[in-house]
Amino acid sequence: MTDTIKHLSTLLAEGKASSVELCQDYLGRIERLNPALNAFITVDAEKTLTEAAAADTRRASGQAGPLTGVPIAHKDIFCAEGWLTTCGSKMLSNFVSPYDAHVIEQFKAAGMPCLGKTNMDEFAMGSSNETSYYGPVRNPWDTDRVPGGSSGGSAAAVAGRLAPAATGTDTGGSIRQPAALTGITGLKPTYGVVSRYGMIAFASSLDQAGPMARTAEDCALLLNVMSGFDARDSTSLERAKEDYARDLMQPLAGLKIGLPLEFFGEGLTGDTARAVEEAIALLKKLGAQPVAVSLPNSKLSVAAYYVLAPAEASSNLSRFDGVRYGYRTPDYRDLTDLYEKTRAEGFGSEVKRRIMIGAYVLSHGYYDAYYLQAQKLRRLIAQDFVEAFRQCDVILGPTAPTTAFKLGEKTADPVEMYLSDIYTIAVNLAGLPGMSLPCGFDAQGLPIGLQLIGDYFAEARMLNAAHQYQLASGWHTRAPTL
Ligand code: GLN
Repeated sequence: MTDTIKHLSTLLAEGKASSVELCQDYLGRIERLNPALNAFITVDAEKTLTEAAAADTRRASGQAGPLTGVPIAHKDIFCAEGWLTTCGSKMLSNFVSPYDAHVIEQFKAAGMPCLGKTNMDEFAMGSSNETSYYGPVRNPWDTDRVPGGSSGGSAAAVAGRLAPAATGTDTGGSIRQPAALTGITGLKPTYGVVSRYGMIAFASSLDQAGPMARTAEDCALLLNVMSGFDARDSTSLERAKEDYARDLMQPLAGLKIGLPLEFFGEGLTGDTARAVEEAIALLKKLGAQPVAVSLPNSKLSVAAYYVLAPAEASSNLSRFDGVRYGYRTPDYRDLTDLYEKTRAEGFGSEVKRRIMIGAYVLSHGYYDAYYLQAQKLRRLIAQDFVEAFRQCDVILGPTAPTTAFKLGEKTADPVEMYLSDIYTIAVNLAGLPGMSLPCGFDAQGLPIGLQLIGDYFAEARMLNAAHQYQLASGWHTRAPTL
């Protein structure tokens, strides 16, 4: 493949392309294709090319790192100095960040120019990118369909070759589910591996940033850049820096792959079931051994999540009050009126729904019945994984119950939309690493995603299985015609 970041870094190292040339190519594709896809909210060619020129100068002076000069797009949830940072909301539609998120600092330090800020569901709440104030993103495989969400802009940008890689965030599936629906590879790390500093908070105990790219190998290289201790995030873990690409070439002989009974039940049908079965068969050929495991409480994960995530969101989003930054209503009588009108006008309906649910489940008299119960379920769900990982090295299943659905198909029924994350949410509740990679296509030519789940801090092992699968299968090399 010619458009992996691995390949682009080789071109740069061999002097066959400059960062300015690469960025010009991608900016050209963005100009041509973004009007149809709406993957980017903000593009600033001058800023990008300035960063690219600096990367070329750095390389010329012998100071380049492995990815210096390779461009990347960033989800508009990351504060980036001097860039409009909207989080997909009217509430932040005028917010130019005065500082960089830790993730942005890391990519800058690596010398990777920013191609622009990508569209997303408002405050990362959604599974289809239809809640964005900036309009829906369209799936490059079929522009009548959604790209998944909430990192749908990043997914569509990578799938449509508008960027070789992008950042995303995953609170309940927002990296993995859009990766599945657009045929790319996306990884959510173990909670605490990537700093949340400067990443606009949705549900802080679940939010985690990760890479979205063409291949597992690219995800490993990007995670090497993104990860690392940061004292400004109290949940950032102080661990030795590791090379996530170190085990990519390990043979899979003897690797135990856990197949959760609950992921292969009646909900899994048709082309998705077939593609996942074929992936298991291929991994067996490579020497892996399937073992049956059980995650009996995972069926309760969506219910627990839709108590806990809104509870945290209702607290996190209280900062948007029209006083300090962001949108402020033009007309108000007094301070209370200012708060009320600003929030009524600045937030979209899905965000309001979450704030109301969150305030309700935390309120006196309901806290014990809902919030506390959900916390107990969270513990049980995490414990299931501890048991399962006693019997296997990685867990495998589908990423999403269906392939990309039509725009508008699920917007009338929030619960139906919430079920898009039935296979991904338990992983966030447990704080485990998980990824999605392409494993085939359905009868309509839409990509299908395979999910791998690793044990805590076992990203390198999960990436090893994913890379070996990609070398043998080749599904990730397919691109939509645009
Ligand atoms: N779709 C889920 C939600 O709407 C997850 C979103 C996410 O991971 N940010 O909350």
